[in-house]
Amino acid sequence: MDFPYLSRLARGIEPYVPGEQPKVPGLIKLNTNENPYPPSPRVEEALRGKAPQLRLYPQSDARTLREAIARREGLAPEQVFCGNGSDEVLALCFPAFFEPDEPVRFPALTYSFYRVYARLFGIPFEEVPMLPGFAVDEGGLVAGRGGAMLPNPNAPTGLQLPLSAIEHMAAAQREKGRVLIVDEAYVAFGGEPSAATLLEKYDNLLVTRTLSKDHALAGLRVGYALGAPGLLEGLVRVKDSFNSYPLDSLAIAAASAAIADEAYFQKTRDQVVETREFFRDGLLRRGFAVLPSSANFVFARPGFCGGKALFDALRARGILVRRWDAKEIAEYLRISIGTREEMETVLSVIDEIRASSV
Ligand code: PMP
Repeated sequence: MDFPYLSRLARGIEPYVPGEQPKVPGLIKLNTNENPYPPSPRVEEALRGKAPQLRLYPQSDARTLREAIARREGLAPEQVFCGNGSDEVLALCFPAFFEPDEPVRFPALTYSFYRVYARLFGIPFEEVPMLPGFAVDEGGLVAGRGGAMLPNPNAPTGLQLPLSAIEHMAAAQREKGRVLIVDEAYVAFGGEPSAATLLEKYDNLLVTRTLSKDHALAGLRVGYALGAPGLLEGLVRVKDSFNSYPLDSLAIAAASAAIADEAYFQKTRDQVVETREFFRDGLLRRGFAVLPSSANFVFARPGFCGGKALFDALRARGILVRRWDAKEIAEYLRISIGTREEMETVLSVIDEIRASSV
């Protein structure tokens, strides 16, 4: 990359690589943890007839959506901040809470966007090695001088720390006057209560969420943070120095409608969890090593062939999953949970592959 007009920053950064979005007819797409069901029918109603409104700028503070989220969470709208996907909320955290002379800590095996943001914003970082079985080292994460962040459940493992561990970390971080960011992109699919239940006690705790997975709205790009108003002020200040209107008016209307439909959310979430357990059981019976999952995906290592070989064989048969080359996880596949029918197909295709490879 040596086009002379680019800054050193633009030339030097290593951008995040999202999962592919190929348009292949009949593809079973299980590579980006999307929801297999459509969003709540209320979303379509909320969007109907909205085109004339697009003449006007949207609410710069997404007030309507913040109120809907606050109602659902039993919080005040001042404890809610909204962004263009939780990716944007997480990005804003770096200039809002971290310093260039204090490394932020996150797990070595985690959502790889954290590393990309840290580099973009010039924040040093320390990757805390995993414990055996890919467990997050909660003590290690809060052993430094600076901020700490982790997804809980973690990605790509799907493992979830208990709320008590999150509380210990929040307390340790508060002791030294630093934040703890808990990325709850997958919390709806796990058994542990949200870290948001600790917000009353810890004003240094920020919890981020997304509507991409549990509300089936990956295409809408809506995420949010929950935290003390003083903490959120940091995010507002950075946002208003960059983009006053990160959420468009259609996104605000559609997301507010989805958030209000709690019954639909619960029904589809329960279906995904039930299918996940069915699928995990199917993999275990076929000799895979499968981590227990608290998310809408499983992280699994086949017993009968290598990870790359299975990835390629599935792909050749129209099933797309996710895999990374990093040594410790190269034999694993991360497989998103689709419909029951899709997961039955995946299991029978695995049987075919296994039969043809022996
Ligand atoms: N956090 C984690 C752990 C994720 O896996 C993802 C999805 N790639 C996100 C945050 C971002 O989600 P979104 O930007 O769609 O809200």
